[in-house]
Amino acid sequence: MKEDNNDVQLLKDEMWTRKTTDKITMLGRKVITEESDIVKKIQKNNTREKEITQALEKKDGLAWEEDGMAYIEGRIYMPNNKKLREEILKEYHDPADIGHPGQHRMLELLKRTYWWPGLKEDIKKYVQGCFKCQQNKVQHQQRAGELHPLEIPKRPWQEISINMIGPLPSSNGIDAILVIVDRFTKMIRLKATTTNISSEGIAKIYRDEI
Ligand SMILES: [Zn+2]
Repeated sequence: MKEDNNDVQLLKDEMWTRKTTDKITMLGRKVITEESDIVKKIQKNNTREKEITQALEKKDGLAWEEDGMAYIEGRIYMPNNKKLREEILKEYHDPADIGHPGQHRMLELLKRTYWWPGLKEDIKKYVQGCFKCQQNKVQHQQRAGELHPLEIPKRPWQEISINMIGPLPSSNGIDAILVIVDRFTKMIRLKATTTNISSEGIAKIYRDEI
């Protein structure tokens, strides 16, 4: 009887292995081979969050280890290593064929193959920290702004724009020029200032000079 149980258990393990391999191929963006650089790096690194170790210990079929990697619900667990996780974030965001996806799309792509606790939050931070994405966002906002032109002011110095030219070569502590333009008359006033002037400072100039 005991022998039979062992046989059943063995068969189950074999089936399970085959099932998980199918799952990985299906979920993966690229077919992951053992020669893959990232797989080698994952295999070399076993820094794991406590919750991962606990999930593996449960042996409930949701988390398991295979070829020196941990799998969580069919996804490769990315070890708790900042450099390694950043590498995979970069791979799923920066390349031209992926083209800087937004948070949701990036999460969708990445979790087809990989997973780690805090993945969603890490993706958010990565996208928000991407210079190219932030630049695009600003351009979109500016374009959207053009659709709603400002109302035309009715009298002089009602609406102004203030821009700063600088830093300029410093002279007597002055290294910038405030350019104040009246939107009604298009009149320009210039005011010598410093690049580190505060918003209160600008307000004071506006109050005293205009
Ligand atoms: Zn980006």
